[in-house]
Amino acid sequence: MTESSRPNWARRVQAATHSLSDRQLDALVVSNPLNVRYLSGFTGSTAWLILTQAGARILTDGRYAAVVRRGTDVGDLVPMPLDVVESTYDRSLVDVLSRVSAMRVGFEASTVTVAGFRRWHDLMPGIDWQPTDDLVENLRLIKDDAEVAVLRRAGHMLDYVASGLGGIVASGRAERDIARTIDAALERVGFERPAFETIVASGPNSAYPHARPTDRRLAAGDLVVLDFGGVLDGYCVDLTRMAAVGHIDSAARSLFEAVSGAQRAALGVVRAGATSADVDRAARSWLEGRGLGPAFCHGTGHGLGLDVHEAPRISRAESGHVTTLAPGMVFTIEPGAYLEGTGGVRLEDDVLVTMDGCDALTTCPTDLVVVSAL
Ligand code: ZN
Ligand code: ZN
Repeated sequence: MTESSRPNWARRVQAATHSLSDRQLDALVVSNPLNVRYLSGFTGSTAWLILTQAGARILTDGRYAAVVRRGTDVGDLVPMPLDVVESTYDRSLVDVLSRVSAMRVGFEASTVTVAGFRRWHDLMPGIDWQPTDDLVENLRLIKDDAEVAVLRRAGHMLDYVASGLGGIVASGRAERDIARTIDAALERVGFERPAFETIVASGPNSAYPHARPTDRRLAAGDLVVLDFGGVLDGYCVDLTRMAAVGHIDSAARSLFEAVSGAQRAALGVVRAGATSADVDRAARSWLEGRGLGPAFCHGTGHGLGLDVHEAPRISRAESGHVTTLAPGMVFTIEPGAYLEGTGGVRLEDDVLVTMDGCDALTTCPTDLVVVSAL
């Protein structure tokens, strides 16, 4: 990691500890691995952070103690006091919390299991445990310069893979085989791994939004959904393009044109101050206007970052997740329409919200990739 690409962890920790006082918490136990990584730079499988007004401490076991010390020395981890687990994480947590005299302690409700919470409650009955929601996730919602730089680089790399689809998709090739070639291309351009299981859904299978690749071989007249993403320095990007094998019928062609228009409509309303529901509405109205409302059976997009699906959700107002967009938010715009018997279409790009619009992080053409039929 170079000096310029290094995240400002100290600022992130400061922002997180600041929100402790808003909630009158003496401490917060951060156990979601992605939140731990975001605040400290720790990338191993298990470590907890204990945040207090005085700063953060990291609790990890013998496997990672040396990694933390070395990472701190070279600047890949934020310097913070290290507590090494001797018997169990729970017992060490008791020690740390009593040492910092914490009485009212927050925990991440979406990460701690019911069994885990019961253990803490039994071991530390004197503590007033407070469930918290999205305390660190809300900080992750706005990407800082270091994150935007990684996501931009990842977007370019994904564009490069997408620009090669014409040479990967071929009539007679099995979906599974195409997915494997896409995964190999993701690795070749420098992604550490695919961000999720690559989707290659052809012909009738394209009518299922989350189809898994099968042994079906592509045939003349097929629409093919190609949805893939990569992880770079922990950050995820995600893209969908469409291919056609030879000539497609007019129903499939108009389905493609409708989704393409819906994506443009949604992109046109992204700007700081608009809401996630406004963006969803733009795509949804476009498809409803073409009789495809019921065919659009998912949200318009999702946030991207350390997780491939994170806040903000770009979905209808009725979903209850309405976010006012702000500069620095990064999410996908991926309307789709799926008709059993005809097939399905989805187009997906990644954008960064700016004051007066958005910056596209993925920019390769969304045109139908037409390959010749056998
Ligand atoms: Zn996708
Ligand atoms: Zn997506």
